[in-house]
Amino acid sequence: MKVHYRLFIVLLLSALFAGCASTGEPLNVTIQSREVWNATPPRPFKVHVPDKITVHHEGTFFDPAKHNAADHIKRVQTWGMGPDRKWIDIPYHFLIDFDGVIYEGRNVFTVGETNTEYDPSGHLLISCLGNFEEQEVGEKTLNALTELLAYSCKKYDISPDSIKTHRDYAKTSCPGKNMYKYFSDGTMVKRVKEILKSRQIQGI
Ligand SMILES: [Zn+2]
Repeated sequence: MKVHYRLFIVLLLSALFAGCASTGEPLNVTIQSREVWNATPPRPFKVHVPDKITVHHEGTFFDPAKHNAADHIKRVQTWGMGPDRKWIDIPYHFLIDFDGVIYEGRNVFTVGETNTEYDPSGHLLISCLGNFEEQEVGEKTLNALTELLAYSCKKYDISPDSIKTHRDYAKTSCPGKNMYKYFSDGTMVKRVKEILKSRQIQGI
């Protein structure tokens, strides 16, 4: 009787743990390298270790039928490194286009750049192409952003509770009201936490 009881407990626990294990498909986040957008090498930079993630929109109206994302990203870098700003590289660590393609920006361990009054030290900057004050956020962009956020939390050991947007730190409409709503109502952070809990993230 005692043996049966123990066996029952073991079976019950196994069933419980099996039920708690990761149920979703492994998450494989693909990041297009800087070569894809023909990046210019960076100038000497200031290092940091990111402990928070800040989401932006790029701010320029983007029409995926007319505009090429890689060319656009290159233009953002050229402008940023030019006489207007004299930055050391493109301002963001990652960029996402309307097809949900993720592009490598500047080195994650270098401090990003801003035109606004906040210190980007410690911020991992993710920017989505487009202007979400005027444009809607497509599902592909939203899914890629959610997955990149989860990937970044895991890879760089950043708490999902530290995910915020540019307008949470500075006087700006960035990342636009149509993107900001997913952050102000908590759905984005909730989705990221769900991924971190239920899916194994590959390539870390
Ligand atoms: Zn911004």
